[in-house]
Amino acid sequence: MLIQIIIFIFGLMIGSFLNVVIYRIPNEQSITFGRSYCPNCETQLKYYDLIPVVSFLWTTGQCRYCEEKISWQYPVVELLTAFLFLGLYLKFSLTVKLGVLMLLISLLIASSIIDLQLQIIPNKITYFGIIIGLIFSLIFNYISIKLALLGLLIPAGFLLLIAVITKGGMGIGDVKFAAMIGTFIGPKLTLLGIFLGSLLGSIIALFLLLAGKKTRKSKLPFGPLIALGTIIMIFYGQVIIDWYLRLIM
Ligand SMILES: [Zn+2]
Repeated sequence: MLIQIIIFIFGLMIGSFLNVVIYRIPNEQSITFGRSYCPNCETQLKYYDLIPVVSFLWTTGQCRYCEEKISWQYPVVELLTAFLFLGLYLKFSLTVKLGVLMLLISLLIASSIIDLQLQIIPNKITYFGIIIGLIFSLIFNYISIKLALLGLLIPAGFLLLIAVITKGGMGIGDVKFAAMIGTFIGPKLTLLGIFLGSLLGSIIALFLLLAGKKTRKSKLPFGPLIALGTIIMIFYGQVIIDWYLRLIM
């Protein structure tokens, strides 16, 4: 039980760091230097303002200094990261794969929130992810470098083709995002993740259309859907593939 608690708290801390990444990367600020401050009153935050989830609940979601409302995004990202890390541990236990997938999921969460807010996926994240994904495959060999390279090229090539055919229906950021995911989990799971994400996106879009929240023209950001599909594939990919093979045979 102790190890689960440690993993969960580690997830909260990484989630807290991801909130910094999400805020600072689009603003061209340093991720590693400079203390955190309130974006509204610019007061430097103390260590007790930075405890994941707890600080948010303690101050009932307000800045302690200027009482500006703090976005729900902060505790949500922290809890999401913590629960996903715990899930990864329960599935993969203490293996190299656990560490690698924790990194991938962190990149997916940061990219998705930035995409939701600004409709971009920063190159800083995708290029970093692609390089690290390839290096990790070489060092740890949890997937072969051949699979990592195919993962880099095939799903991205597929999305690039769609981008060309639809003339900008898909951003080039999504293409790089798929390339990054592929270097971590290979071409098969990445393609299935993209497919699943698109499927879920269509279902969500249909519900929003029926509820009158969206028009046929307004489009959902694709990055978070790819991320969602990928996370489902990381946890249930093999189960889904086995189920599908039984279905068609
Ligand atoms: Zn403030």
